[in-house]
Amino acid sequence: MTGIGHVTLAPGSVATEEARQLAFDLEQRPVEKPTAAAVDLLIRSTLAAHEPGLELPDVRVSGRMRQTLGSYMPSKKQIAISSRLLAMSDEEDVRSVVLHEVAHAIVHERWGGKPSPHGREFRAVCGEIGAKPRRYVDVTTEQWQSRVRYLAKCGHCKALIVRKRQVRSVRCVCGLKLYPQSWRTVAPAEGGATGDWVML
Ligand SMILES: [Zn+2]
Ligand SMILES: [Zn+2]
Repeated sequence: MTGIGHVTLAPGSVATEEARQLAFDLEQRPVEKPTAAAVDLLIRSTLAAHEPGLELPDVRVSGRMRQTLGSYMPSKKQIAISSRLLAMSDEEDVRSVVLHEVAHAIVHERWGGKPSPHGREFRAVCGEIGAKPRRYVDVTTEQWQSRVRYLAKCGHCKALIVRKRQVRSVRCVCGLKLYPQSWRTVAPAEGGATGDWVML
């Protein structure tokens, strides 16, 4: 048993208020994008140590990147990473992908577009910042798809309905039959309570 089992309700209006608040919170669980603050911190600290003149915008977390885990767009100096990577892999894998893209950014800053993408300059920068000087980052992604779920919200009682497939119709616990127009793709939140989801 967790937290809720220990709540003791004292008589009176305050307790009733609290009980109502608790019920409200449970129904209104936010479904958020996986947080990228730690990734931005990694990028900033790496640049501060190895390429202090280079400033990059906040990392873009993309729900469309499925085969690609990370990318760097030189024209916008934009590092993007897959929301699946952020939601479903461990810290070490995220770090490998991010440092690989930071290496691309630094190569572009120093030599422009001349060097070949994973050539001599890239390998040198990887050595400098502690990234693996490889063309591909090894991240095991086979398990990811089995953890993906689809989420709809009941328009009547606001309950979250989670399914393994995007079915045409679904029955909510409140009894309402729904025909969701669009399902949100989600994954279980890492380290969150059971029933917490992040958007992919
Ligand atoms: Zn690359
Ligand atoms: Zn409902």
